[in-house]
Amino acid sequence: MAKLKTIKIFDTTLRDGEQSPGASMNIEEKLRIAKQLQKLKVDVIEAGFPIASEGDFEAVKRIAQTIKGPEIAGLCRASTKDIDRGWEALQYAGEKGRIHTFIATSDIHMKYKLQMQPAAVLAAAVKAVKHARSYTPNVEFSCEDAVRTDLKFLAEVVAAVIDAGANTVNIPDTVGYTIPFEYFNIIKYLKDNVVNIDKAIISVHCHNDLGLSVANSIAAVQAGAEQVECTINGIGERAGNCSLEEFVMTLKTRHDILPFKTNVETTQLTPASRLLTTVTGIVVQPNKAIVGANAFAHEAGIHQHGMLMEKSTYEIMTPESVGLKTSVLVLGKHSGRHAFKKRLEELGYDLNEEQLNKAFERFKTLADLKKEVFDEDLDAIVTDEVLRTEEKFKLSHITVTCGSFAVATATVQMEIDGTSVRTAELGDGPVDATLKAIKKLTKAKAELQQYMVGSITGGTDAQGEVTVRLAEGDRTVIGRGSSTDIIEASAKAYINALNRLHYKQEQLRDSL
Ligand SMILES: [Zn+2]
Repeated sequence: MAKLKTIKIFDTTLRDGEQSPGASMNIEEKLRIAKQLQKLKVDVIEAGFPIASEGDFEAVKRIAQTIKGPEIAGLCRASTKDIDRGWEALQYAGEKGRIHTFIATSDIHMKYKLQMQPAAVLAAAVKAVKHARSYTPNVEFSCEDAVRTDLKFLAEVVAAVIDAGANTVNIPDTVGYTIPFEYFNIIKYLKDNVVNIDKAIISVHCHNDLGLSVANSIAAVQAGAEQVECTINGIGERAGNCSLEEFVMTLKTRHDILPFKTNVETTQLTPASRLLTTVTGIVVQPNKAIVGANAFAHEAGIHQHGMLMEKSTYEIMTPESVGLKTSVLVLGKHSGRHAFKKRLEELGYDLNEEQLNKAFERFKTLADLKKEVFDEDLDAIVTDEVLRTEEKFKLSHITVTCGSFAVATATVQMEIDGTSVRTAELGDGPVDATLKAIKKLTKAKAELQQYMVGSITGGTDAQGEVTVRLAEGDRTVIGRGSSTDIIEASAKAYINALNRLHYKQEQLRDSL
């Protein structure tokens, strides 16, 4: 078989993905995701948009300081100020730091958004790349809305930025508009008509508005693109981005006709997908390719019969290859502090003494109730007890009485900015009473749009997990909480969402 060409995986879960409606992550959560991306062996992690806010800057800086292996990219508009701020955060990654700068090149964007003439856009792009090059040789340039850009002008910009020193040139389908045949031709045109194209690699970045982002990315690779930008679970602006797991598994499964491979450790795909869901609260639909709950389930009798005879009758890839196994028991009631710490380290958590004590205490309580504790439980514990501790609103205690004859009553004690407060409320059922009490204490004005209950693992003693969606003005957030008690999980999810709303407001205040 011919040698397979390696395609670079540029993960933008922490930048484009975080722009998904409802998804916002704090710094600790971003760092946890980054550690999983490191395990997944992606080539580049786009960690954020450093000038967008203090929080984004800090996250990019921490990731640049901590993550070893992948390159770390930060997004910057084509302006000196953006690039200076970007490098301030990225410098800690040393030669692995990548400045990713961009400007729109389509007529519609130049005319209405930028209000700039094409010549001025070209000059700004070249100036930005040269400035970025004064910091690092690792510079990526993106022609925003490339798909709707005049092809001749696109080729002119690409040639100019390569001359200026960009070593990766991204041709994004920003609005999710193209189809595979057209996109193939755009990439092919650049390969054939830009004289210095061999001095840079072509990257693609596809949005999923028509459900074609993975197909388009594959067409681009066939035309000569060597880097694909994607996200875990395909999250991202609007309909999302090219899904990392779908793209990677397509190359792996069809290398008979696609002579390409990636460096991704595919057995880490399912853990990455689950972790992102735990952290953001954004669940994937059951029929989602690769990581959906039904992706490897065989329901029809005739299929089951075939599977028993020979797996490959209906299975084009194995569940093991994407890291899907029935949850393995990792820890139990008698597991000690050492085993607990070791497992957390294997999952990528590096906790200090105090954090470890807190998490261990919760683990012991859980292990008493639940007997078997799985990786998913540990992620939920650490997310609840450690990653979210610096927050404004915290739940201290909750007591609920309810039943067929009683009016549900909830007494909730919370800490708000470090001050202890308490109240009781009646409600239409225990969840209603609880949320009313929290609303009263926090003076929240947000509207509850969605409330969902699920379980982290199987069994009636499983931890329940509650996901809520809150909206205030034009902002929506998703909150998530877990506990073996679903009333407590509901309270935690609601408080988590309020903290995210608060964090978003703070970010908006200090953004430029
Ligand atoms: Zn995008």
